Amino acid sequence: MKAETNQYWRAFKLVAIVSFFVGLSASLTTCSPSISPIDEILATGEIRVVTRENPATYTFNNGQATGFEYDLAKKFAEYLDVELNIYSSSVSQALQDIENGRAHIAAAGLSITEARKLDVDFGPDYQEVTQQLIGRRDKKQPKDLSDLPDFKIAVLADSSHLERLIQLQANFPDLEWDTQNADSTIELMQSVKNGDIELTIVDSNEFAVTQRYFPKLSSLIELSEIQRIAWAMPQHSPSLQKEINTFFTTLESSGELDQLKELHFGYINSFDYFEVTNFKKDYENRFPEFRNFFLQAGIDYGIDWKLLAAVSYQESHWRKNAVSPTGVKGLMMLTKNTAAEMNVTDRKDPQQSIDGGARYLLKMQAKIPQRIQFPDRLWFALAGYNVGFGHLEDARILTQRAGKNADLWSDVREYLPLLSEKKYYSTLRFGKARGSEPVKYVENIRDYHDLLIWLTRNENMPTIDDEELSEPDDETLFQRLEKLKPNVIKSLNL
Ligand code: GLU
Repeated sequence: MKAETNQYWRAFKLVAIVSFFVGLSASLTTCSPSISPIDEILATGEIRVVTRENPATYTFNNGQATGFEYDLAKKFAEYLDVELNIYSSSVSQALQDIENGRAHIAAAGLSITEARKLDVDFGPDYQEVTQQLIGRRDKKQPKDLSDLPDFKIAVLADSSHLERLIQLQANFPDLEWDTQNADSTIELMQSVKNGDIELTIVDSNEFAVTQRYFPKLSSLIELSEIQRIAWAMPQHSPSLQKEINTFFTTLESSGELDQLKELHFGYINSFDYFEVTNFKKDYENRFPEFRNFFLQAGIDYGIDWKLLAAVSYQESHWRKNAVSPTGVKGLMMLTKNTAAEMNVTDRKDPQQSIDGGARYLLKMQAKIPQRIQFPDRLWFALAGYNVGFGHLEDARILTQRAGKNADLWSDVREYLPLLSEKKYYSTLRFGKARGSEPVKYVENIRDYHDLLIWLTRNENMPTIDDEELSEPDDETLFQRLEKLKPNVIKSLNL
């Protein structure tokens, strides 16, 4: 909430609290539910949000909640200046909880449908999806919709996918299916993978994120027109509706909505089957030997250890004896000079390589202007490390010339590839560079990081102090560095 609106807001809250108690006493005497959701939220200082657990909506990394819907809900709670009380549920239960008042908002990747509008209201739409028919790539597949009745299909209970099947049944009366009251399409994808069912339906945004976890599955048919995703809320709640509208308008005009989409969906490469299966194999066979070194470096330097492991996979595919033709070596592929700078005496020693690589990564981040926040700061650092900071600066100049934001990775990555074209590099200080390489480099690391989050989701990791896990986005790198041990700061040579 902006400072200039604070006064208005305090007054509004006061009115809300008063009307909450007036409403409460009225409803106690008349039994009529006259308390509006926004009054309740402001009076109790808490917003109850129901979501669905899925990597595209709400998930956990290192014990902390994350996900597109989670971040949106968190920002909305901040905007209202109340606590966020978020819990996950199925589509079916989420809709019921809106109707019975258990939740104020369903931020659950819900599609706006005519049928749902009879029971709940929707906020402004913030994402567009299509429904994808998902099946095994190595099994019998439907050629078109008329083949669907020959397959064993299951979808989420009360989902937009169920509504679509009911529509299709009008044309294909033999079409049948099962519904499952699972929390997420992940469970259904698991069933397709195991062969318990042959087909399911998943929204395109969710499938884009989760396909990589199930390389055997692919999208076979696009089943719907574009559908719009929005928050659901109780009907006849004009004040809540108004706040949600204003919130989304602000988020959109400030560019924050695009940034959140970039954070949660922007890294998605078209990873192929072999890349994902090789990664999984290497994770099982090579990674365990080094896992504790990554964890330790993560704790020592306040970095997400999965990011370090992702960088290392990009560099060496977790081969401790890796050597490149240019002489870089080891798990983190350090050059001789970098190793000397970081006091790494044996580049092929996994612990030294990881520890030195982690410190070097912090040093690279320190080269990025302080105003650029995590995670962009990290992507810039990685890109600069890969292509050279002079070339990165050149690409930022090109970005600026095009009227785009040179502090955003999502803008700069569009201009980096132009560094190989004479028309552009001839106007820049550091000249020609293969600028598409750092783009691929960063995107691969984001992909590997995401796969690691998925692969470790059920493992009990040693817990790390809250302080060390605190998201770096609300503090500068220098504040974070101050928390590090003095000998680490010394070795960073800043
Ligand atoms: N959009 C779906 C619905 O509204 C849920 C998302 C999914 O399960 O893929 O039912």
